[in-house]
Amino acid sequence: MDRYGVIGNPIAHSKSPEIHAQFAAQTGQHMAYERILAPLDAFSQTVRDLMAQGFGGANVTVPFKLEAHTLASTLTERAQAAGAVNTLKFEQGTILGDNTDGVGLVTDITENAGLSLSGKRILLLGAGGAARGVILPLLAKAPGQLVIANRTVAKAEELAAQFESKGHVSPSAFTTLDQPFDLVINATSASLSADVPPVSPTVFGRGALAYDMMYGKAPTVFMRFAAQHGASVRDGLGMLVEQAAESFQLWRGVRPGTAEVFAALRAKL
Ligand code: NDP
Repeated sequence: MDRYGVIGNPIAHSKSPEIHAQFAAQTGQHMAYERILAPLDAFSQTVRDLMAQGFGGANVTVPFKLEAHTLASTLTERAQAAGAVNTLKFEQGTILGDNTDGVGLVTDITENAGLSLSGKRILLLGAGGAARGVILPLLAKAPGQLVIANRTVAKAEELAAQFESKGHVSPSAFTTLDQPFDLVINATSASLSADVPPVSPTVFGRGALAYDMMYGKAPTVFMRFAAQHGASVRDGLGMLVEQAAESFQLWRGVRPGTAEVFAALRAKL
């Protein structure tokens, strides 16, 4: 049986084994997928061990996405742009590094939420690893404008400069934003501490979608804030399922359906 897994530390909370087991059952793929706890100082050894055991690949989560980027022998364009890797594919002793987080977000927004991004005004809050990973896939949908706003403005400036050749990208502070957007994505970790980035409610344009990458049982504080100001809201559960589907396709060459898996996970939250 072909083996895959998710490498992280901690890893007990990961929903990936559940998601991939459902994908495998649905598509008739004969494979196993397990949680792999790597010691904090032994990520690359853990990967070598998996390769020696004949694993076909692995997902990578906190805190190893940057190390996975360094370790990969070759990188997809989106992994290169993201500076981080969440999917490894082992091929004849070499390691392909990919990043499916960004395309997972974009698929959830365009296909599951039904929002076309072409010509739209997008506000991306945050400039950490999650934000960096979604910029190229967002720009690939030809939005009219992408503004990256961050608490530490220098990081937003750095990211905007990195991607300026790929589309209309500009940096901003939170507090100077005064125009309406069609899509506002919260890629900060502020929701983890029940904080909302200090943006004016006027950023939510008429009919705007507010997307929080975080997910959980209840709406996040960011989602509540956005809903109070007229936006429709969505959490990051769909992104999680869609990035997994993209990894599954890379490994198995089959695209699984995501709607049932999403509904099953939602029911358990
Ligand atoms: P990082 O630590 O790399 O970046 C954190 C970002 O949040 C920085 O931009 C930081 O600003 C900002 N920030 C932190 N606290 C606050 C605050 N109180 N107010 C305003 N801004 C704040 O984290 P990641 O990019 O890896 O993760 C961000 C979020 O995305 C997490 O909630 C994570 O769970 C989620 N995520 C969801 C995924 C999914 O599949 N749904 C996949 C990946 C991530 P500064 O630069 O100023 O420090």
